[in-house]
Amino acid sequence: MFAIVDCNNFYASCERVFVPRLRGKPIVVLSNNDGCIIARSNEAKALGYKMGDVYFQVKERLRKDGVCVFSSNYALYGDMSRRVMQTLEAFAPEMEVYSIDEAFLDLTGFRDLLAHGQRLRATVRQHTGIPVGVGIAPTKTLAKVANFTAKKQPQYNGVCVLESPTHWEPILAALEVGEVWGIGRQHENRLHAQGVTTAFEFSQLSDTWLRKNMSVVGLRTAQELRGIPCNELKPEADARKSVTVSRSFGQRIRWWRKSNPKARTVSSGWW
Ligand SMILES: [Mg+2]
Repeated sequence: MFAIVDCNNFYASCERVFVPRLRGKPIVVLSNNDGCIIARSNEAKALGYKMGDVYFQVKERLRKDGVCVFSSNYALYGDMSRRVMQTLEAFAPEMEVYSIDEAFLDLTGFRDLLAHGQRLRATVRQHTGIPVGVGIAPTKTLAKVANFTAKKQPQYNGVCVLESPTHWEPILAALEVGEVWGIGRQHENRLHAQGVTTAFEFSQLSDTWLRKNMSVVGLRTAQELRGIPCNELKPEADARKSVTVSRSFGQRIRWWRKSNPKARTVSSGWW
C-alpha cells in the first residue's frame, strides 16, 4: 500500500503559519519578481483567483477584496518542507520525497490505514502548522486519485483510503480522465476523440490499444488504475526537481496563457 501526502496550498499555508491573524483570510503568493499568482488559500480560490493570474492585472481587485499578498520566500518553503518530511519519516519505513510539498510513503503491512492516515495528518498539523491531504491505495496512481478525492470532498476529513475495486471503481467512474496522474493534455485529447472521458473507461481499454497509442507509460497508468502496481517507491528521489523558476514578461505571459490556459507555474505534481 502507498500513501501520498500532499500539503494543501503549500506556499500560502507556509506564510499563514507565522501570521495567525490571517487564519480564515484570503491570501495569495506571487512568483519571482511578483509576476503572477502561484499559490492561493482556499478563501482566495473561492474569490475566483486562478493560478497564473498576472499580478498587475488583478492588483486592484486583490486590494478591494482585502486579499493579503505575499512575495515568494523559497527559503521559508524549503525549510517548512524539510520539517513536514521529517515528521512524515516517523510514519513509514520508506518514503519518497516527490516534490517540495508531496511525499509517497510505503505502508505495506500496515493495519487500520484510515486511523494511521488521520494520525499522520494530525501530527503534521501539530508539528508544523501545515494542513495536508492523504490518499492511500495499492498503487501510486490510485493513491493520487484517493488524495484528489480527499481534497475535493470534505466528508473524507482529509484522508481517503481506496483498498479494493469496490472502493475505487465508482470514484474512477466520476473522475475526468485528464485528472489522472500522468495523463497530459495530448493524451487527454486523444482519449476524448476515442470517446473515453472518465478514468474508469480509460482503465478498461485493451492493453494492445494502450500500448500502441499511449506507449508502455500509458499502459502502466491504466494497470495502476486496475490496482496492479507498476511504479515502485523511489526513496532516493530528491525534492529539487519540483522547484520551478518562473520569470514573467508582459508579452510572453499573454502568449503563454492563451496557448496553454491550464498551465501551472508551480509543478507540485500532475493535478
Ligand atoms: Mg500541494
